[in-house]
Amino acid sequence: MRRVSVFGATGSVGESTLDLIARRDDCRVVALTGGRNVVRLAELARAHRAELAVTAHDDCLGDLRAALAGSGVAVAAGAQALVEAAARPADWVMSAIVGAAGLAPGFAALAQGGVLALANKESLVCAGALLKAEAARHGATILPVDSEHSAVFQALTGEDIAAVETLTLTASGGGLRDWPLDRLARATPADAGQHPNWDMGQRITIDSASMFNKAMEVIEAREFFGIAPERIEVLIHPQSLVHALVGFSDGAVMAHLGAPDMRHAIGYALNWPARAPLPVARLDLVQAGRLDFHAPDPARYPALGLAWDVMAAGGCAGAVFNAAKEAALDAFIAGRIGFADMARLVERTLEVTAQETDITRDPASLAEVLETDTDARRRATALADGLARSGAA
Ligand code: NDP
Repeated sequence: MRRVSVFGATGSVGESTLDLIARRDDCRVVALTGGRNVVRLAELARAHRAELAVTAHDDCLGDLRAALAGSGVAVAAGAQALVEAAARPADWVMSAIVGAAGLAPGFAALAQGGVLALANKESLVCAGALLKAEAARHGATILPVDSEHSAVFQALTGEDIAAVETLTLTASGGGLRDWPLDRLARATPADAGQHPNWDMGQRITIDSASMFNKAMEVIEAREFFGIAPERIEVLIHPQSLVHALVGFSDGAVMAHLGAPDMRHAIGYALNWPARAPLPVARLDLVQAGRLDFHAPDPARYPALGLAWDVMAAGGCAGAVFNAAKEAALDAFIAGRIGFADMARLVERTLEVTAQETDITRDPASLAEVLETDTDARRRATALADGLARSGAA
């Protein structure tokens, strides 16, 4: 039996992961974790006969304990309990907590030397070098779960990375893709929280509309595949059927196509290195009719270009970028700043941090990454407060 744990079990990726696990008879669930949705966490823990259920929040422990009374599932709460859950022996661990909170459990899971299926893109953006070093130290394997990165990973199987000329990540353009530019500033979280093709959590859906998500993915691709930033490009592809393209030095281009269903990328990571049948819709190109591509407009998606600034700076810039992006998103969701303010706020946080600290220094430890995160979040929140006070929202 494969021992599996799912971090962020109550989220969009977590639920899809458990849907696939439920269809197999070779998995034993060790730990499931969630945040505030303890009712769902308890349901999942019972259904999958998990050994342990952990909520990230201490104040949710009582509810989780009550919901799992008599089930035989052990319960725990808090950030340290998440790390301890990740230290439980497991062969395959899904890292699908949203945000920087996913970093520490992911690091802890690598010490098992098994497979870390990485949906939490913040891990590579904030601490790519450290994460890869930790995996190498323990002989662990990190597999990409972001659909674009899984697509690139599959296109690169059996290929020499040195022969890669270009790496193209596709983007749907998000829920505001067709809005007139002058209306964008007035977009609400509900407007930006609609995705044309993918069914995802609220935060990543809004990040898709701003393309902060794609900026994160560009940095993630650089970290995962070691591709030079100038070789990475993004194309808007409204149908979301081509997930990524890899161009080689002989002019060949390998594209990965499939229906927009995260269970493909998750299932690939679950079955890797084999392929096995998955319950995803099959691609019907005749029905699709056409595949469109165009370059993103920098005026519509100012967040995307920041990815190249972050990659040029290196060091701690990824952690600053992510923390500022999360703080900006919090402020937008709370109605304190406008949609278009988010990119300006993150850019300004990067500038201010670079003026006051050496943003290019390589973090020596996860603790240093988390300190950088806290510091950048504080700066970004102060800037958001200023914007909110000035009535820019
Ligand atoms: P969701 O918002 O749907 O789920 C997030 C999960 O993290 C939930 O289980 C949530 O618990 C938990 N969580 C929230 N806050 C905390 C915290 N502070 N500490 C511990 N756990 C917490 O997110 P998604 O599933 O959409 O995304 C998860 C990750 O995967 C993100 O990094 C995202 O960028 C990435 N990703 C997502 C894709 C998608 O299709 N959704 C595609 C590719 C990557 P609760 O709900 O109980 O509060």
